[in-house]
Amino acid sequence: MSSSPEFPRIVSLRPSPHASPSLQSLRSMTLAAAFNAFKSSNLISWKHSGRLQQTLAGCIERTGKALHSGEVSTVKLWPELAGQGRYFDFRSNLIPASVDFAEESPLCTTLCKNGFRIRTVEHLLSALEAVGVDNCRIEIRNLNPEDHDVEVPIFDGSAKEWVKAIEQVGLKVAKDQSGNNCEKMAPYVNEPMHVWRSDSFVAAFPSQKVQITYGIDFPQVHAIGCQWFSAVSLDNSLYSEQIASSRTFCVYEEVEKMRNAGLIKGGSPENAIICSASKGWVNPPLRFADEPCRHKVLDLIGDLSLFAQFGSQGLPVAHIVAYKGGHALHADLVRRLSGMI
Ligand SMILES: [Zn+2]
Repeated sequence: MSSSPEFPRIVSLRPSPHASPSLQSLRSMTLAAAFNAFKSSNLISWKHSGRLQQTLAGCIERTGKALHSGEVSTVKLWPELAGQGRYFDFRSNLIPASVDFAEESPLCTTLCKNGFRIRTVEHLLSALEAVGVDNCRIEIRNLNPEDHDVEVPIFDGSAKEWVKAIEQVGLKVAKDQSGNNCEKMAPYVNEPMHVWRSDSFVAAFPSQKVQITYGIDFPQVHAIGCQWFSAVSLDNSLYSEQIASSRTFCVYEEVEKMRNAGLIKGGSPENAIICSASKGWVNPPLRFADEPCRHKVLDLIGDLSLFAQFGSQGLPVAHIVAYKGGHALHADLVRRLSGMI
């Protein structure tokens, strides 16, 4: 693999004559824009990962109920050219899976552009990032063609359905419009950094590989209690075997409050593990004794994937240590890495 330094050979710049106008605008990023996107800073250095950018070998379509809205939606994943990255296509509105379009929302990660909003993107993006689907068009639709809001189906509350679907269809090396392979760039953290809100924090320390350590603490809910999970040398198989099947969890005594706030309308014992403060797990068995903590790692990977651009790796190469984090705090780390905060 070339060790040539700064400039990644990644972007396809010429709009395809067959592309829709909006897709053309997405592809009309200038060379300068791509170059700037990979400019290293004090905080991070973009380096070659030693891997080529990939995409799906075929299409995937899945339909299911959404957690918060309770509505049914369909997601179709399409192979995409190298350099295009991952982006949603909702009623022909293209929304890059980038922190630039992340909107703060309770209990999920939301992307929003020009009034079109896609909720609960984190489990799908977690699977795509971890398994190595670097370039992908994510078409999403729901039953009402007038809706400006849509939500990714929840399935069993984990990323298992997406990982299984990706493994079934397979991956291939992505080519750009000229038919060239593109190297995948990875962001290396240069110096310790952290973001925090009240008693929660996420920190990233320089490391030569991706490591994640996550802690949660629910002193009032004894069956969850204090848990730590560490993923050392995170790779595809560790993700698929140890993280992807960990489900969303919630505290039984808070369900009513969340429902009153218009959330989890589609929540059920089939798509979340539910824990009562007084009675313990409502719908056992768990898939792992520390399944809640592993699910936080799954969420973190999905949220940090929003740092990806032009088919690069989103997950920073660092030892990431998180404690009692949530989607908003995860997104803050991405903003910090981007120099936005
Ligand atoms: Zn989640």
